[in-house]
Amino acid sequence: MTNPTRTRGDGTVYLVGAGPGDPGLLTLRGGELLVTCDAIVYDALANPALLALAEATEREQPVELYDVGKRGGASESARQDEINELLIRLARDGKRVVRLKGGDPFVFGRGSEEAEALAREALRFEIVPGVTAGIAAPAYAGIPVTHRGAATSVTFVTGHEDPAKEATTVDWSALARAGGTIVLYMGVKTLPRISDALVNGGMAATVPAAAVQWGTYPRQRTVTATLGTLAAAIEREGLTAPVITVIGPVVSLRETIGWFDRRPLFGKTIVVTRARSQSATLSDRLAALGADVVEIPATRIEPIESPAIDEAIERLRDYKWVIFTSQNAVGLFWDALRAAGRDARMLAGVNVAAVGPATADALLSIGVATDLSPERFVAEALLDALRDRGDVRGARVLYATAEGAREVLPDGLVELGALVDRVHLYRSVPSGEGVDELKRRIAAGVDVVTFTSASSVSAFADAVGGDAVAGVQGASIGPITTAAARTMGIDVVVEASDSTIPGLVNALVDHFAKDVT
Ligand code: SAH
Repeated sequence: MTNPTRTRGDGTVYLVGAGPGDPGLLTLRGGELLVTCDAIVYDALANPALLALAEATEREQPVELYDVGKRGGASESARQDEINELLIRLARDGKRVVRLKGGDPFVFGRGSEEAEALAREALRFEIVPGVTAGIAAPAYAGIPVTHRGAATSVTFVTGHEDPAKEATTVDWSALARAGGTIVLYMGVKTLPRISDALVNGGMAATVPAAAVQWGTYPRQRTVTATLGTLAAAIEREGLTAPVITVIGPVVSLRETIGWFDRRPLFGKTIVVTRARSQSATLSDRLAALGADVVEIPATRIEPIESPAIDEAIERLRDYKWVIFTSQNAVGLFWDALRAAGRDARMLAGVNVAAVGPATADALLSIGVATDLSPERFVAEALLDALRDRGDVRGARVLYATAEGAREVLPDGLVELGALVDRVHLYRSVPSGEGVDELKRRIAAGVDVVTFTSASSVSAFADAVGGDAVAGVQGASIGPITTAAARTMGIDVVVEASDSTIPGLVNALVDHFAKDVT
């Protein structure tokens, strides 16, 4: 099916560099094309996260995905011909096609051959350069490809050709004499013979050398040695493709400027089970500290519309207290207020309480400063704080919360003699999305699963099933969540002393800092 608003002549193929792996290293132009194109033709080294980004974007018609990375029986050149034909066919159909290639399309990527094929057919194309693995993988390992005093030139070379074969087109001894940094692509298997060729050409076997596997991914691994010993070290450590090899004095800089794999949570796989609308800050923070974050939406927020909400809004000024238990509650309350043609002035003269700082921030963003926020961010503490004020007896209280939330606070307030109206602004519903992926990752072994509420515990248990839950190590935001997790058989190994997202993140960092093996 072609887009009816396009004519055949509009077809364009964009040869886009996907970057080395870290989705953040895709160019802005590349990102823009991924979310607006009609089709994506990709191969093995394109990060699936980029395809997920493209698929998740709403558009008139779903994006067509073509995986051309599978290596069947066909020869390299037959495969390349098929790819060229596919690109030509899609462009002739008037489609805007992203040809997504790992790293940079013109660095050992055969992008130029595809461009030639399109040019021969007089079809339109554009080149969108990418961050090549030969620069990015070393950079993420703390190795600059040039450095004043250490290397004034860099050579990118393919290790695809075996130097032991007569037909080699790489002049290894010239490279050995050139004196700059050598960055080798596709050369894990041929490294023993390449090292020999370089040493025979006059390069010292003692020159520092490093291999970086899966550069810029959370699973990045780096092995450092010398030109003479690297091949054996790679073998010992079991590194296989994709690997970038760097040879030259610049490799020593890793000792001082290594950073990516030295972050506190590097190498840890952490599952984040909050609702999608809230998970961004937790997963962003964990990822920034180096964790491999498996972000599974355990629940999603479903707003509830009810006359009770509208009635509460009309009578807002009659309440002595309005209590919010989450930022979602604040957001949805604000939506309801606006839908009723009202705004924050309706809260003039009303006391506002928030259960924690994120809720208080959400209130501030709608122009409302909270009058009360407890020291510990749990309902019990807020209840104590309200009791201490001694002004709730006989007072009208509006309790704005989620369906199925704990009743400690409203029940306690009723006991204190308050007249409590409970309005449920939303419910958290388990989301089927990503459940298979979650099960797969848990079976493969994760370090810890985070829980930010009692409902995230039950949603997680619903998603993966009872057997998978027992024995999982959990990190909890506070005592109530911990108790809920323990009843499910989860081994809670981390509990935040400060029940906030930053508090949970700090507790995880402390936990893994202790676990030096
Ligand atoms: N066009 C790509 C290179 C394609 S050739 C680019 O510009 O990066 C494929 C080779 O690239 C692999 O064999 C490996 O040597 C290297 N490579 C690609 N991605 C890599 C990564 N994330 N980490 C290490 N090496 C990588």
